[in-house]
Amino acid sequence: EYAVEVAAVDKTFDTRSGTVTALEGIHLTVAPGEFVSLIGPSGCGKSTLMRLVADLDEPTSGAIRVFGKTAKQARLDQEYGIAFQQAGLLPWRTVAGNIALPLELHGVASAARRDRVAELLDMVGLSDFADRFPDQLSGGMQQRVAIARSLAERPRLLLMDEPFGALDEMTREKMQAELVRISGETGAAVVFVTHSIPEAVFLSDRVVVMSPRPGRVAQVVDMRLGADVS
Ligand code: ADP
Ligand code: ADP
Repeated sequence: EYAVEVAAVDKTFDTRSGTVTALEGIHLTVAPGEFVSLIGPSGCGKSTLMRLVADLDEPTSGAIRVFGKTAKQARLDQEYGIAFQQAGLLPWRTVAGNIALPLELHGVASAARRDRVAELLDMVGLSDFADRFPDQLSGGMQQRVAIARSLAERPRLLLMDEPFGALDEMTREKMQAELVRISGETGAAVVFVTHSIPEAVFLSDRVVVMSPRPGRVAQVVDMRLGADVS
């Protein structure tokens, strides 16, 4: 059973100036525990694909399975941790309140929740900002809150779309190391969109290069040592 299975997926958008094909004939599988980076030129459909896997939008045709379930069911079962470039924080909740959200939805008791939130705040270096609201934080800090929230429930699948885009270099390196440690520890599968080839190479088991032209086969580069690369 795959963590993610994308089979023959097409996605088109109807716009005022006609139909835009964002994805055509996409196939992608991600094994449990595997760290896959998606790279490719701007506009090649990376974010669209991530949104489909996250059940934030539906494919025009084709199928998406997450741990053998529909994306919708996987979302209901809280299989995902999601950290996208737009942090997507609830503006009316504090930093701690945002990070605690998945724990609350999962019915984690209040004392345990507090401990876990404190641990996550420490991990992303925001312990002093627990009671701030998102609009009082820089873009990079908001991203760190989103990363902490995505990890709160130790999900089996992390979907990250340029989660480090707004971070300064030092913080990015720290967060990269944390992500490698956490995905190793929890055995989470990760699908990671980045513009940075070095970042993709450093983090991943496998780098998938999406073609700029829909319908053309993506190149897949296997980063694992000793693996056959065809
Ligand atoms: P990437 O993340 O690789 O930069 P996107 O997934 O954002 O690429 O976009 C892929 C293509 O789909 C682009 O041509 C983009 O303009 C188009 N697209 C994405 N979302 C929409 C939308 N909501 N409406 C119309 N076109 C869209
Ligand atoms: P909000 O007002 O944004 O809803 P709350 O203060 O109600 O936030 O806290 C929401 C969650 O965050 C609770 O589960 C609480 O245990 C946790 N929490 C709040 N403040 C802290 C803190 N300083 N350290 C750790 N966890 C906290």
